[in-house]
Amino acid sequence: MCKVRLSGIVPESVCDGPGLRTVLFFQGCCHHCIGCHNPQTWPFDGGEEFTVSDLLRTLPDSPLITGITFSGGDPFYQAEAAALIAKELHNRGKNIWAYTGFKWEELLMESNPSRIKFLLECDVLVDGPFNNKEVKIGLIFRGSLNQRIILVKESFFKKRIILWEPQ
Ligand code: SF4
Repeated sequence: MCKVRLSGIVPESVCDGPGLRTVLFFQGCCHHCIGCHNPQTWPFDGGEEFTVSDLLRTLPDSPLITGITFSGGDPFYQAEAAALIAKELHNRGKNIWAYTGFKWEELLMESNPSRIKFLLECDVLVDGPFNNKEVKIGLIFRGSLNQRIILVKESFFKKRIILWEPQ
């Protein structure tokens, strides 16, 4: 039975991607970015553990919620569970955004099968560690300028990074 450890769930948010979204905050992060807004998500034994099936049963299924955002922490430390959750939410018609402290290139070079599986279930990846020296007022859906909002399928298809642009 696959399990996942979360630090919290925000049922409805308009801050973590376009439209009305549910946000899953994964527990556990080794990036330890200076100025991180969620240091309580760093320990891997914090938060609360769920079975993936229990979590999927409890998530709101309103048609008004168009997407799910995987945040943290870093969901790529629990990639096997994240991939299962994302796949089921895709089946429910939700689009998937994920935030990670890993860079796109690191995830591809490392070729960790679970992380690649999860990446392939993401529509958009916001990559890279938060850098408090690159904070700029007015950034949309990212904390610092170095982070990129990447269209995953388009980037795989074209073999170069294609960035998401606000409509
Ligand atoms: S990756 Fe995110 S959660 Fe992890 S330390 Fe950096 S900002 Fe914090």
